Amino acid sequence: MKVTLLAYTPEPDALVAAAARVCYGADAIPHEKPAADSVEKFINMLTEMGHESPVEHVSFTFGIEGVSRSVLAQITRHRIASFSVRSQRYVSEDEFGYVTPPEIAAIPEAAEIYKRSMERAAEDYRQLSEVLRKAKAERGDFAQKSEKAAAKAIEKASIEDARYVLPNACETMMVVTMNARSLYNFFRLRCCNRAQWEIRELARQMLMLVREVSPALFRKAGPPCLNGACPEGKMSCGKAEEMRKLYTAKEQSNG
Ligand SMILES: Cc1cc2nc3c(=O)[nH]c(=O)nc-3n(C[C@H](O)[C@H](O)[C@H](O)COP(=O)(O)OP(=O)(O)OC[C@H]3O[C@@H](n4cnc5c(N)ncnc54)[C@H](O)[C@@H]3O)c2cc1C
Repeated sequence: MKVTLLAYTPEPDALVAAAARVCYGADAIPHEKPAADSVEKFINMLTEMGHESPVEHVSFTFGIEGVSRSVLAQITRHRIASFSVRSQRYVSEDEFGYVTPPEIAAIPEAAEIYKRSMERAAEDYRQLSEVLRKAKAERGDFAQKSEKAAAKAIEKASIEDARYVLPNACETMMVVTMNARSLYNFFRLRCCNRAQWEIRELARQMLMLVREVSPALFRKAGPPCLNGACPEGKMSCGKAEEMRKLYTAKEQSNG
């Protein structure tokens, strides 16, 4: 998995503090950069009050590579976000990479079954694409197009059906943009130990990246147990202390 912060609203902490000042006492729209201590003060105040709308003014765009289509299904459930995802309709998966869950990788017998399954899926995909391509060409699909354009259209129509045999493990890449409020929600849900290991690792890396550029805004972002008791009841992982250590360590790196 490779996660990069591609772009973000310049000086996010200062902009949110400026927006907060408009709510709580500025005589006019503040155009000058606020002092660092005032930024901290306003952001802390918003956090304590649970006044989250000012943080919607800043957005963060991530490049995400080497994650599974399982993660894609999970992250795209977050509706307050924008996504651009590599297409399996337009891009051939002849040589697809795949993600192996660590639990499977750790058990040789499971790893062997898994690898076999991926190889079989890859071979079925290739064969199916070829059979579909041949049938469409023989049938004269897209004959009204030029030879080159018809071949391209046949290729696309073939791989878009052949892809149905591809596994959830199949690697994908995407660009994702969320504003800070949506990220708070994302981190609350997906940094929690109840989230699956892959999206949890993705969320952790995203959090570390935004903390680097926007420390005040994201200091308290993370799983709910970071800032109080675990709200998960019977579903709690019981590791709140461990989670607090993980998400408060200053030296946490994006690895
Ligand atoms: C541990 C875990 C297990 C899960 N298991 C399942 C599962 O088994 N099956 C399943 O289908 N999903 C499952 N999900 C996905 C989950 O239900 C959410 O779809 C996903 O986490 C996105 O969260 P969200 O709706 O808060 O985010 P967003 O879509 O980004 O929404 C952000 C917030 O905006 C508000 N909002 C957005 N849209 C609406 C709306 N239409 N009406 C009212 N308010 C809205 C809500 O307050 C919401 O919290 C699971 C998630 C987690 C973390």
